[in-house]
Amino acid sequence: MKFFNFEECNLCGECFQKCPELKLSEKEARNEIKKILEGIKGFKNSGHSEKKKANFLKFINSSEVLTHCSSCFSCNFFCSRGCNPYFLILECLNEKYKRLGLPAINKLVIPTERKNIWQETARHLSEEEKRLLTEWQNLEKKLNARNEILLTGCFTNLMPYLIDTKILMEIPIFGTHRLWCSGGHIFQLGLLDVVKEIGTKNIEFFNNCLKGKFNKVIPIMDAEYIMMKYIYPEYYGINFNIELEPFLFWLKRKLKNKEIQLNKNINKRITIHDNCFAKAEGEILFNSVREIVEIIGSEIKEMKHNKYNSLCCGFGHGCTYKNPIFIPSRIIKGSIKKLKEAEKTRAEAMVVYCSGCLVILSMAKAILKSKIEIYHIFELVQMAAGETPHHLHTKRGKEIFKIMFVNFIKSIWEKNFIVKVK
Ligand code: SF4
Ligand code: SF4
Repeated sequence: MKFFNFEECNLCGECFQKCPELKLSEKEARNEIKKILEGIKGFKNSGHSEKKKANFLKFINSSEVLTHCSSCFSCNFFCSRGCNPYFLILECLNEKYKRLGLPAINKLVIPTERKNIWQETARHLSEEEKRLLTEWQNLEKKLNARNEILLTGCFTNLMPYLIDTKILMEIPIFGTHRLWCSGGHIFQLGLLDVVKEIGTKNIEFFNNCLKGKFNKVIPIMDAEYIMMKYIYPEYYGINFNIELEPFLFWLKRKLKNKEIQLNKNINKRITIHDNCFAKAEGEILFNSVREIVEIIGSEIKEMKHNKYNSLCCGFGHGCTYKNPIFIPSRIIKGSIKKLKEAEKTRAEAMVVYCSGCLVILSMAKAILKSKIEIYHIFELVQMAAGETPHHLHTKRGKEIFKIMFVNFIKSIWEKNFIVKVK
């Protein structure tokens, strides 16, 4: 497994200098890349004695990038030599995890942990939402070989009402948090070896339970699409051998072919939050969401940071820290920063196309009592088609924030842990 291209890097520092989060000078950026490269080379095969662990932690904590990166992917696209500097950061986080484990607050996003966010949120779901989740988990019994299937993604499963719509009546929906969002958020946490286990397990699942029962998968979350399409095959040699189509392409296709009939214009000023994983597919996803916004009759107001330069929704701020006690506040601060940038555009609403971002930004909206509405792109299409979306994001955001807060307090006294992929 080799993620960063060590041979090609000339230490120019451009990657970190252009970082939309860190605001480093040219000199600081050059120093950072040099320090990280020397550090990772020196520590990679060193032992794990208490003294070596302490030295490793000292190295991580001395780096602005390794303690403040928001896991946004952008620097990969700022490097003209194709080195993947973001993946170098992940390699460092992986080494940190191997030595120190993961802070207990992260148990919330680990599906095999007893008190994970899916179990904790379950008590807030309506009976209809619970019924939908059960139906999505048991999809394989209903499939035939000609089907396209929609993959919900684990974070969509925290808001099942989001895709409870007539528009999706024709397409079978499959979703369980046990697929770990195809390892997307685990990848951002830098647990590169755990991601490999998840990929291997997911392949087994697809082969044993779903093989021959569908011919195309449409992941609702770009994270899942990017993991299956690029990360697993290119960096882990794990090939799903499945035809994949991003949800935005599917939605645009349905609109252009008039398979989704629109009956009114949504005259709103809309700003768009481009998610971190979408950057890996490039312009085509950015353009698709903008085309859809225009098809439904809305006007686009771009944020200062958009497309390749877009700021993270907040989640990624929890992947790096000096002290794990600050993880929740880093996440909330990051998402409030995003929300404020959206408010500055004077748009009436911010549109997201990742349900993970929707969860995080809805929490921030609930805390900040922000007036800007947040919609998933899908909800705008529903409205243009004459449906009223359930739109329970602020309520669910508050519920999830409370869960995070309570679990954070409990986690302060818990030790770091090792992730088990059962
Ligand atoms: S990763 Fe690329 S942009 Fe960054 S220092 Fe190396 S060559 Fe320059
Ligand atoms: S991933 Fe994003 S936040 Fe992290 S160093 Fe690269 S550009 Fe900056």
